[in-house]
Amino acid sequence: LLKNRYDDIGPLLADGATGTNFFDLGLGAGDPPELWNIDQPDKVTTLHSGFVGAGSDIILTNSFGGTRHRLKLHKADDRVHELNAKAAEIALAVAATVDRQIIVAGSVGPTGELIVPLGELTYDDAVEAFTEQMTGLRDGGVDLVWIETMSSAEEIQAAVAAAQTIGIDYAVTASFDTAGHTMMGLSPAAFADQAMAYDPKPAAFGANCGVGAADLLVAVLAMTEQHPDAMIVAKANCGIPQAVGGEIKYTGTPDLMANYAQIAVDAGAKIIGGCCGTTAEHLRSMRDALDGHQKNSRPDVAMIVESLGPMVSAAAADRNSDAADAAAQRRSRRRRRT
Ligand SMILES: [Zn+2]
Repeated sequence: LLKNRYDDIGPLLADGATGTNFFDLGLGAGDPPELWNIDQPDKVTTLHSGFVGAGSDIILTNSFGGTRHRLKLHKADDRVHELNAKAAEIALAVAATVDRQIIVAGSVGPTGELIVPLGELTYDDAVEAFTEQMTGLRDGGVDLVWIETMSSAEEIQAAVAAAQTIGIDYAVTASFDTAGHTMMGLSPAAFADQAMAYDPKPAAFGANCGVGAADLLVAVLAMTEQHPDAMIVAKANCGIPQAVGGEIKYTGTPDLMANYAQIAVDAGAKIIGGCCGTTAEHLRSMRDALDGHQKNSRPDVAMIVESLGPMVSAAAADRNSDAADAAAQRRSRRRRRT
């Protein structure tokens, strides 16, 4: 479905943030957005409508934390099917309001649990939890499920197994937020190889969230280098998160995100969207940028940094090596003293 649509119209625009936009609509920090599918459906509709109005070709349902493990924190683990099916229905209703084709993808985030031996969750329990969530999304009518913000190879495997059990198309993206790897140490290249080895293969795979837009595109480069024909997703945060007066703000302007969208296409991404901090205004600017863009030569890391600003993980690496230098100097001073 994604590939066919890409062949018809070129690079596809996905959507923007769920959480940070919901905070602006009144969601309290720590509150589960999924309950809004029942309690505040109009606000969920408002979010999707903003993205569709801005020109998104793909929208993700409000179901990121829709496994029983995440919902249990809010005593809603017995409502998995209801909340996920409703998430799908709300998004589909918005998609039906426009003439062009909007693909509705059912968002599936991590369970928040670690799989044994690191944690308590068994692999089989993870598959069961994802199967339960995806059944709700499928019954609600999504076109495919969209496994996102993943960091553990085992958990990705479990979510993919669930999609395959149900027999629904799936996309899968990981968050490379820790020195160019996922929190669990998976590199973009290893993740891409893992994704390409599945049978059936994912409809798309790539990177979402993480740290800055520059960092995300460097991860995308690693994936497109190995698999240039794959449907690769770039769904970056809107710049870099910064704490401003007790709130998290994102540094990305509509211009920066437009620039990012064009470089993402040049880097070989076929589906481009935003993650945390990305509003409908940013997406409108990205839509214009994609529509007016002729694919350019492949960027390198230096070009990405020059256009979008320094990489967060490179800064972290520099800080670490500065700290190592300082420590080495202290050691040598001590040696001189003794
Ligand atoms: Zn994000």
